[in-house]
Amino acid sequence: MSATSDGFQEALDATLPILQSMTKNLRVKPKATRTSLENLRISLPASFEKPTKTAEKTIKPSHPVTPVVSGKDDGRLAKLEILKKSILTCTRCPHLVTSRTQVVYGVGNPFAELLFVGEAPGEEEDLRGEPFIGKAGQLLTKIIGAMEYTRDDIFIANILKCRPDMPGGESGNRKPKPAEMSTCLPWLTQQIELIKPKVIVALGLTAVEGLLGEPCTMRDVRGKWLDYHGVPLMPTYHPAYLLRNQTLAEKRKVWEDMLLVLEKLGRAISTKQQGYFLEKA
Ligand code: SF4
Repeated sequence: MSATSDGFQEALDATLPILQSMTKNLRVKPKATRTSLENLRISLPASFEKPTKTAEKTIKPSHPVTPVVSGKDDGRLAKLEILKKSILTCTRCPHLVTSRTQVVYGVGNPFAELLFVGEAPGEEEDLRGEPFIGKAGQLLTKIIGAMEYTRDDIFIANILKCRPDMPGGESGNRKPKPAEMSTCLPWLTQQIELIKPKVIVALGLTAVEGLLGEPCTMRDVRGKWLDYHGVPLMPTYHPAYLLRNQTLAEKRKVWEDMLLVLEKLGRAISTKQQGYFLEKA
């Protein structure tokens, strides 16, 4: 395939999930299929296919490309690629296969020392193929920044990799069921085995219960070190909880959990970082 048709293919791959979702959710259906788009490509003069700088900026791949690699490859990259292909075509949950736009594999550094785990993709994540990109995701990005990491340094994944289906195709999100999480969890476990993070942070009670496979309460587990297959596991609040409870006290609780994580990772903690979200006297 030529470079120009590569560009068209990327645009096509990015556009199709959105069209599929519009077909499912809107009253006015878009009239474009892969065949009709391909016919359009053939009918275009070559100059129309050439990606412009603007087009390069706006085209998002349906599955994020592998980001900055910061470790020595011990064979994990090839194994992760094979695993990724299996995950992206998984059909273990037929009810989610029919409702999803795409599988949300996860995003970040395959050599990450820190892994954040959420519960499941929401509507926006399902459309874009990337976890934690809505408002809660933006807050998570700020937390990651306050820890002096970027999203490219760490890895972010969900226990459930397909968006939980909504009754009657309603909009909004629902929590994943325990059976759904236990069906999908082996994928995440394989990702963890290959990425080998030094610390896992579970975001929210559902993620903690999904990993542990048993019910618990946030009061009992938040801020305490647990273990997931030999990897230290820190449960903390989901960023969506912080969006609903924007008090300094609740933000400080999450931040204290992150300070424990930084300490466990042997990262230097500045005085400024120590003081974030402390109540003013
Ligand atoms: S939720 Fe997980 S196990 Fe179920 S179909 Fe999606 S990827 Fe497969």
